[in-house]
Amino acid sequence: MDKKKLLRRVLGLVLAVVMVLPLTGPGMLIDASAVTQAEIDALKNNASNLASQKKDIQNQLKAVKADKSAAMQKKQLLEDQIDVIRQEIANINEQIAMYDQLIAEKTAELEQAEADEQAQFDLFCRRMRYMEEQGEVSYWSILFASNDFSELLDNYMMIEEIIQYDNQVIDDLTALQEKVTKDRTALEGAQAEQEEAKALQVAAQDELKAQEAEVDKLIAQINAQEDLLEEMEEELNKAAKALDNQIKAKEREYAAQIAKVPSESGFLWPLPGSYNTISSLAGGRIHPVTGKPSNHAGIDIPAPSGTNIYAAKSGVVIHAAKGTGSSWSYGNYVIVSHSDGTSTLYGHMSRIGCKQGQTVRQGDVIGYVGTTGRSTGNHLHFEIRVGSTRKDPVNYFKDKTLYVTSGGKKVSLW
Ligand SMILES: [Zn+2]
Repeated sequence: MDKKKLLRRVLGLVLAVVMVLPLTGPGMLIDASAVTQAEIDALKNNASNLASQKKDIQNQLKAVKADKSAAMQKKQLLEDQIDVIRQEIANINEQIAMYDQLIAEKTAELEQAEADEQAQFDLFCRRMRYMEEQGEVSYWSILFASNDFSELLDNYMMIEEIIQYDNQVIDDLTALQEKVTKDRTALEGAQAEQEEAKALQVAAQDELKAQEAEVDKLIAQINAQEDLLEEMEEELNKAAKALDNQIKAKEREYAAQIAKVPSESGFLWPLPGSYNTISSLAGGRIHPVTGKPSNHAGIDIPAPSGTNIYAAKSGVVIHAAKGTGSSWSYGNYVIVSHSDGTSTLYGHMSRIGCKQGQTVRQGDVIGYVGTTGRSTGNHLHFEIRVGSTRKDPVNYFKDKTLYVTSGGKKVSLW
């Protein structure tokens, strides 16, 4: 989520809170008689805005948490790779140490061999010196000192052996020196290769550590974002709770307001008594406008435009406006809520004669007959509801003389 988007969310939140605040501020509580359904609906609309903002924040939080989890996985992967490389470096270090030791051993071996050769040479020199001191300077003198041929041969063999032995020692030593030098060169080469490999591993480790630092930075950013969103969610929760309390309080006030108006036991016929012919009863019928079957929710009582419409029972006007959306077909219509749990609806008015929130008495004029909305002529569409269930209004006027038009003829309903 980019920062601009986040900022917009915060601003949206602030606006939502501002919208709520004037209603919750001290001294702002309006007189109970002024509570209207529209006010409660507006509050409920605010509440639903808050709920959708909260949902939005929660979705963002979900996305942020997913980002975080991906980043943590990446970090784990890098750490695993770093561990592998660390192990590799440790192995290479061991290898280098081993080569160090081998080189030292080879060097010692060579030194030993050189010492041995030196010792051998010293021995040879001492023997020669001894022979010189004895006056037997040369091999020849040894040979000539022989008493007979057999002794001469013996002496000759002995000298030969000494010379051969010394030559052998020197040859062996030379071979050993060559081998040691070769080994040492090979070891030093291997060691150099290992050093190079180690340098590569160290570079790779540094690169991974740099990547890990980047991921750490990212995680820190995500954490900050998460904190902010959680804070916003918390604020929204608080605002929603406050609003909810406010709606409940208003609804209680509203209910109290309706309860304050006592209901009469029966309903007053909503038009002047002379308009007592019903053109359309409640229940299944062919709709006069659409020509399709419809369940007529009330009764239609024709009367000239402008005829007074009376409140059928005392109560509080909970709707007094032109229908919109699904209630468009009612035209200008009024709903009066009564404290006995019933309500009455008056549709297709030419003009509305009351205000939402207003307390009306049975028989008060609340509007005038018209043909607004989905209507074919001037008439009152009248409904009676118990709770939210529509009832057939004629059943509440059994003691009144009512007529119904059927096949162009007017017949008594009872
Ligand atoms: Zn009707």
